[in-house]
Amino acid sequence: MTRATAAASTLPPLDKDDPSGLAFLSAFEQSHEGMLVTDGENRIVAVNEALIRQSGYTPEELLGQNPRILSSARATPEFYADMWQALATKDYWEGEIWNKQKDGSNYPRRLKITVVRGPDGSVRNYVANFTEIDASHEVADRLAYLAYHDPLTDLPNRLAFESQLAQSLRICERENRQLALMLIDLDNFKNINDTLGHHVGDLLLQDVALRLRECVRISDLVARIGGDEFVVVLPEIDSPLTAARVATKIQSNLADSYRIAEHVLYATPSIGISLYPIDGNDTGTLLRNADTAMYHAKNAGRNNHQFYTARMNEAAGERLQMENELRQAIAAISPANSEFALHFQPQIETSTGRVLGMEALLRWNSPRFGMVPPVRFISIAEDTGLIQPLGDWVIWETCRLIRVMKREGITGIRVAINMSAQQLRHENLLLLVRGALDCYDLLPSDIELEVTESTAMENPEMTLSILDQLSAMGIVLAIDDFGTGYSSLAYLKHLPIQRLKLDRSFVTDIETDPNDAAICTATIALGHSLGLELVAEGVETEAQRDFLAGLNCDILQGYLYSKPMPFDAMLDYLRAKQPNE
Ligand code: C2E
Ligand code: CA
Ligand code: CA
Repeated sequence: MTRATAAASTLPPLDKDDPSGLAFLSAFEQSHEGMLVTDGENRIVAVNEALIRQSGYTPEELLGQNPRILSSARATPEFYADMWQALATKDYWEGEIWNKQKDGSNYPRRLKITVVRGPDGSVRNYVANFTEIDASHEVADRLAYLAYHDPLTDLPNRLAFESQLAQSLRICERENRQLALMLIDLDNFKNINDTLGHHVGDLLLQDVALRLRECVRISDLVARIGGDEFVVVLPEIDSPLTAARVATKIQSNLADSYRIAEHVLYATPSIGISLYPIDGNDTGTLLRNADTAMYHAKNAGRNNHQFYTARMNEAAGERLQMENELRQAIAAISPANSEFALHFQPQIETSTGRVLGMEALLRWNSPRFGMVPPVRFISIAEDTGLIQPLGDWVIWETCRLIRVMKREGITGIRVAINMSAQQLRHENLLLLVRGALDCYDLLPSDIELEVTESTAMENPEMTLSILDQLSAMGIVLAIDDFGTGYSSLAYLKHLPIQRLKLDRSFVTDIETDPNDAAICTATIALGHSLGLELVAEGVETEAQRDFLAGLNCDILQGYLYSKPMPFDAMLDYLRAKQPNE
């Protein structure tokens, strides 16, 4: 006896002496289509072998259950209301549903339900019959939909984008039209994903997708082609101005805050635009050039759009040359000779005017490019992994110079070293720092390490463990450029840091911009309440100093006191400040 027959034999209204009943029983058992019977209260009283096979459940798991157990929950309450209405009035319903297997996977079925009534007209049974949907068109349509759509946002995916763009390009060519391709990348999305979790990130992407759709016409294509990368294709534009207008609209729509769970989030876009035919006439070239333009938009300060220009490739060429020069310069570093040098900028105690420390800032004097500012070469070093050897050199060189300074009789000056995210992630960092301190016979309190806010927020668990170990060694840690990232102070509280460095951008307009003044005021108060010391960067005027002093900012740094200076000049500066030490 098969399991299904065991289930079928529980069929209550069938009389074994009734020939039609027996015929039904045998049809029920042998049908290749899944069938089930419920009683008047819609509890399953019989299931056949085919349904057992399809659903993955055993008869025991199904008998007595509401058939809801098989449903994928995709249908709306209205859908079920219609179904019950039909059953009540016509004793029959037919439609398409998604069933759910025991393992959770969903499969589409055509469902027919027939009502069996007793002599008094009351419902005795519902008999449900599940047929496979004709694979030739409906399932194929569905599979095609899944293959061409991004399940998260429901937008066309990369595959769909490429084929639709290729088709639009053929039309443009035939009809002599222009087309614009926009590549949209969200600023700081990674931060949100890493700190608030993928679930929040997913919800944000769904909102962004909706807002993007609202910004364009039905005939325009919006697709998601990567994590936080979207494209918009405007298949018929009169002039680039149209693309600029749409880009501006997207910027302002996306820049509004997003309310997700209990968070208020911001996800501004950086947009790169390439045009057919002037920037390329195939999908690959247009996408590559839009990508180049998008990077320029990011470098130009985010939340803006840039049209691709051929000059951008020149800039990329220059970047490549700089990378090569940088590589050679790093390979050639020797104690006697280096294109790199450290300059030092004093940090002043607000209440006394005393020099408490120095920040070491890297300089590159390239024979080919001249004096290259760190904002230009640090990012190249970071993108290429060169920051590792270069950062190691900065740590060793700083320690060496502190030893020289001490030998000159200058003590009590702590020197801050800037660290990139990659250095922080490298397992050698602790050994390296300990080695350099030991080598020059220094104390952990002779140095301080600065990590930017965004670095501290990347990969929080790993960062926390490294920072804990550095802190346990007795090294003071500071968060640099504070206020530019998305960190919550709630998270920072868990980091073993002693200092917050308020970003220069807030200090610059502190007297004129009420927003910046409010941010400075709040950050200093909040920082103090967490027991942190506050450092203000970029103090250039006495008015800024007075304002910050009024807020009890502990330490000041900026051109008002001194620009960064070469090592020898720093020694002279300190000798003049500390004549008796
Ligand atoms: P940062 O760490 O925020 O350093 C402060 C920057 O502000 C320095 O620029 C400094 O010269 C400048 N600055 C200080 N006071 C004032 C002021 O009153 N007004 C103005 N307008 N600017 C002021 P610098 O030396 O060009 O360095 C730029 C950035 O390069 C640094 O920003 C830091 O992020 C990075 N950097 C410098 N040296 C290193 C290093 O050894 N390693 C790493 N990873 N990054 C470094
Ligand atoms: Ca710094
Ligand atoms: Ca800074």
